Amino acid sequence: MMQDCVFCRIVNRQLPSTVVYEDDKVMAFNDINPVAPIHVIIIPKEHIASVNDLTDNNASVMGDIHLAAKKIAEKLGVADKGYRLINNCGPDAGQTVFHLHYHLIAGVKLGAKII
Ligand code: 5GP
Ligand code: ZN
Repeated sequence: MMQDCVFCRIVNRQLPSTVVYEDDKVMAFNDINPVAPIHVIIIPKEHIASVNDLTDNNASVMGDIHLAAKKIAEKLGVADKGYRLINNCGPDAGQTVFHLHYHLIAGVKLGAKII
């Protein structure tokens, strides 16, 4: 747990969020500033700053995140219609929260560029 990390604080319920999925490894909640009708943030509960910080020891969480994404899409009724998973890594990609996360965006026909 990183005390100054906003997503660690959400995991520990020190900050409120609307949780849409949770298991022992992963948590997902609605983005506070949605860019589409469905905009969910999926994170590992373990603090990993970005894709750059994946290692042989923690990379299995990427599978966990993708399985969570599949379940969330089914739960929210967009599995067949479609959804986009986006990861921003580093400043040029626009990463603002340095706790690894995927955006699950859906509920609208997405163009070639969304973020
Ligand atoms: P990034 O730009 O790092 O890929 O995305 C960070 C995302 O986290 C942004 O879409 C932003 O709206 C969202 N976000 C930042 N702070 C909070 C928060 O305190 N609660 C929630 N639910 N989302 C947040
Ligand atoms: Zn964190």
